[in-house]
Amino acid sequence: MTNILIAAAVLALLGLVLGILIGYTAKRFAVEADPRIEEITELLPGANCGGCGYAGCADFAKEIVENDANISSCSACSEENFKKIAEILGKEAGNREKQVAVVYCSGDNHKAKRLARYNGLNDCRAAAALSGGGKTCRFGCIGLGSCARRCQFGAIEIRNGLAIVHPELCEGCGNCIDICPRKLIRLVPATSKIHVYCNSLEKGPVKRKACEAACIACKKCVRAVPDSFNAQGFLVRVTEDSNLTEETIREIACPTGALDTVAHHTAANSGKEGAA
Ligand code: SF4
Ligand code: SF4
Repeated sequence: MTNILIAAAVLALLGLVLGILIGYTAKRFAVEADPRIEEITELLPGANCGGCGYAGCADFAKEIVENDANISSCSACSEENFKKIAEILGKEAGNREKQVAVVYCSGDNHKAKRLARYNGLNDCRAAAALSGGGKTCRFGCIGLGSCARRCQFGAIEIRNGLAIVHPELCEGCGNCIDICPRKLIRLVPATSKIHVYCNSLEKGPVKRKACEAACIACKKCVRAVPDSFNAQGFLVRVTEDSNLTEETIREIACPTGALDTVAHHTAANSGKEGAA
């Protein structure tokens, strides 16, 4: 019994000494965290989306303070908070152009021809690897919503087998881009309001057979406003510095509707046409 009491006392004493030692070491060698890291973490969106290239908002804040990481890498940060962060760092905020995602496809289940019924995994990459999904077009949206599930801001809606970005919800983080096996999603300046919603590189007649909404490369738009379009083989794109207006688009009257405004494309495909 005495032996047990002695052992317990020795252990308690040892614990006490070690505790004091650990406490002293922690205090003596503590590394003071820069308080700006916490302040900046509070100002970042807290979505931990990784769009900036770092593990999360706190990690990004640490890199901003300690290694001069570029604040603009977070496209989800509001303009107001972006300016506050620059102020904390004693830097000029500069101008940041808001970017939004665009899905370059209009081929929903009604417009794109169906090749087969896809019954596999509910994942666009799995479908692309297995059979390419159910649509005839091998360039268009598979519509299983891998991008929508990746978006933390709920900015992508899948409707009738087509992904549609709601620009007012998109924070431009770019997280949806690399998950799309069809490489349909790009970030563009939020001021770009007109696009050709097609990504197929097939020849016009092949595309026409595969999808009613494809860009058939008739070049009607290019002939009407040459400076505002780039024809890349059988696919036309609106140039970034184009000054196309809604009225010009109406005058051009793209025969398939692939050339469209963001507002009309979003409203028509998300079933809210009246709201456009
Ligand atoms: S749509 Fe894409 S870019 Fe926009 S917020 Fe969602 S994941 Fe980010
Ligand atoms: S845009 Fe890409 S990831 Fe999104 S539903 Fe379409 S194929 Fe899938």
